[in-house]
Amino acid sequence: MQGVVIKLDRGFPLVRLGDGREIRCEHATSLVKYATVRATTGDVVEVDAPDGHDKGIIIQVHPRRNAFMRKDPTERVEAQVLAANFDLVFVAEPLVGINIRRLERALVLAHESQAQVVVLLTKADLAQDEEQLRMAKDLVGRIAQGTRVIVVSAQDPQSVEQVRSCVPQGKVAILLGKSGVGKSSLVNLLVGSQVQATGAVREGDGRGRHTTVSREMVQIPGAGCVVDMPGVRGLALWDAAEGLGSAFSDIDQLAEACRFADCRHEAEPGCAVRQAVVDGTLAQERLDSFLRLRDEADHVRQRNVEAQRIKSRTGHPRRWAKPSRR
Ligand code: GDP
Ligand code: ZN
Repeated sequence: MQGVVIKLDRGFPLVRLGDGREIRCEHATSLVKYATVRATTGDVVEVDAPDGHDKGIIIQVHPRRNAFMRKDPTERVEAQVLAANFDLVFVAEPLVGINIRRLERALVLAHESQAQVVVLLTKADLAQDEEQLRMAKDLVGRIAQGTRVIVVSAQDPQSVEQVRSCVPQGKVAILLGKSGVGKSSLVNLLVGSQVQATGAVREGDGRGRHTTVSREMVQIPGAGCVVDMPGVRGLALWDAAEGLGSAFSDIDQLAEACRFADCRHEAEPGCAVRQAVVDGTLAQERLDSFLRLRDEADHVRQRNVEAQRIKSRTGHPRRWAKPSRR
């Protein structure tokens, strides 16, 4: 039977089958033995539900249309797939207390997924005045380049409506942002009921934060689905070449005029990007951010290549080897 993973329940994928039934699953031994593929939220999977077994068994994870990946937070040279098969990434950043570095990094990862990207400037009601609101919008507009920016407040139903209209029926959005930015509150407003405990409740229950949800796919009435990504701290880059190009399209465009096609905008002669900094058309901090993120991505790529080489030499199974049938 085919189904979709709607959340990870203590590591076990909860799968919604075609007939609407939801079943907790584990991975087939063959799947975990010869490949490191693990089903994640949004994955389309083939499930066996043997009689007398309280869990279903995932025998196949279908190829992903796209994925949200970061480097595994441990030292391992591996990608961690946080969600798969989504159409849109909401990058939430608080309107008061914007962190540019964090926003840039999130935008690179979001664009890398090839999905549509929308920035949400949340808790807009906390702005002191129109001036602060305008300055925040200007700043984020410069960082986001052409990416759409929506100013959101839980107090403003119209802003929530704007967010909802980004996720039409049949589409899936993932919601990214630091803890406390207002993700759960937004999900509750979109759904129209308290499906997710918000900061206040979580702090009150004495069990600390992030204990309640795990990247659950939530259906918005009359619209698509949204996946809150709580507790996603430290977004270390994985593959980021495409994402860098999109998130820094200003630099990407300037680079076309560099003398060398593979210019690294460091010490090469005829670098149009560095020239733009000299001319004052590109901010030095912007270039610094780009170089920092690019170097991080390069470093991960190099380590990944080395790790693959060692694995192939030691005869360790190929990472994305096709799962055999059970
Ligand atoms: P999450 O950690 O991203 O899920 O954030 P929460 O939704 O739990 O919100 C964190 C805190 O911010 C809670 O106390 C919310 O009540 C509050 N909050 C959420 N949205 C808004 C908003 O639009 N305006 C204001 N002033 N507070 C908000
Ligand atoms: Zn250059």
